[in-house]
Amino acid sequence: MLQEKFTNPKNNVDISIVVPMYNEQESLPELMKGISETLGKHGKTYEAVFVDDGSSDNSFEVVKTLHESYPGCVRALRFSRNCGKSAALNAGIAIASGNIIVTMDADLQDDPAAIPDMIAKLDEGWDMVSGWKKVRHDPFGKTFPSKIWNAMTSFATGLKLHDFNCGFKAYRCDVAKNLDIYGERHRYLPALAHWDGYRVTEAVVPHHARKFGKSKYGTWRMFNGAMDMITLLFLKKYMKSPMHFFGILGMLLIAVGAGVMGYFGVMWIITGAMKIRPLTLLAVGAMVMGVQFMSIGLIGEMITNSLQPGKRYSIRESL
Ligand code: UDP
Ligand code: MG
Repeated sequence: MLQEKFTNPKNNVDISIVVPMYNEQESLPELMKGISETLGKHGKTYEAVFVDDGSSDNSFEVVKTLHESYPGCVRALRFSRNCGKSAALNAGIAIASGNIIVTMDADLQDDPAAIPDMIAKLDEGWDMVSGWKKVRHDPFGKTFPSKIWNAMTSFATGLKLHDFNCGFKAYRCDVAKNLDIYGERHRYLPALAHWDGYRVTEAVVPHHARKFGKSKYGTWRMFNGAMDMITLLFLKKYMKSPMHFFGILGMLLIAVGAGVMGYFGVMWIITGAMKIRPLTLLAVGAMVMGVQFMSIGLIGEMITNSLQPGKRYSIRESL
């Protein structure tokens, strides 16, 4: 199981292009043509892995026709409902069989012509290359918040990149397969790989305006993104030892509560009278909360300890 996860014994093409898609029927033929022309020119064997994230248009039917017109080069998965871009990436990467895995959006905003440059960077020794849409063709309402968000993410994650959320990325196969992409984590993949000790860089990629359909993400993505960032930072620091966070907080609260109660105890002995004051309630509350935090910490430890071994470490090389 572990062996399979890290070494992908089924490798049979040079490059897998994983494309998550949600209602992108108009773009797919042109995208596939671009992929095939670029990779054909470079003499690479390849497969395009389309993951239909519950489209309600004819995207999957279009992929079926591509499957016939590019024999042996198109694979596809179809979700029974819309599960999100992260889930689609995860599923596509899981079945990809290439030594190199490239992910790109389906809407023609990413240009397959940039794939060789990204692969050249991997050949230089990088484990992951993240696209940087230096000249971006999106509305201002999207590009401006994105600039701020990227600066904040660079600061918080310790990885200096201009464009974390670009869908266009290239990985060595085992690096991509080692990522656990769920929820909305597709926005932080370079940070996740960096934290796992992989060598992450960026490459400038051309970007085009959306030709067909409309963006699947609105303003809410910023708020969701901020919540995900808090989760990730917490997981990064305390995933291995949740008790170090909850336990210390719990002990502090219990100590404060016990100290105050001790003071009341002494006063009771000296004066022989016991008054319920707001401070008493505060002390009791602090102790109850303290015990709760300790319990959450212990539950966290139980969860961490029941994780599969593969989730506890990441391998760069094996002989
Ligand atoms: N996408 C997806 N599932 C979703 C939303 C989007 O697979 O729930 C795909 C979408 O089809 C596209 C890529 O993710 O290939 C990026 O989406 P979009 O172009 O809407 O994002 P934007 O470029 O506006 O950031
Ligand atoms: Mg797009």
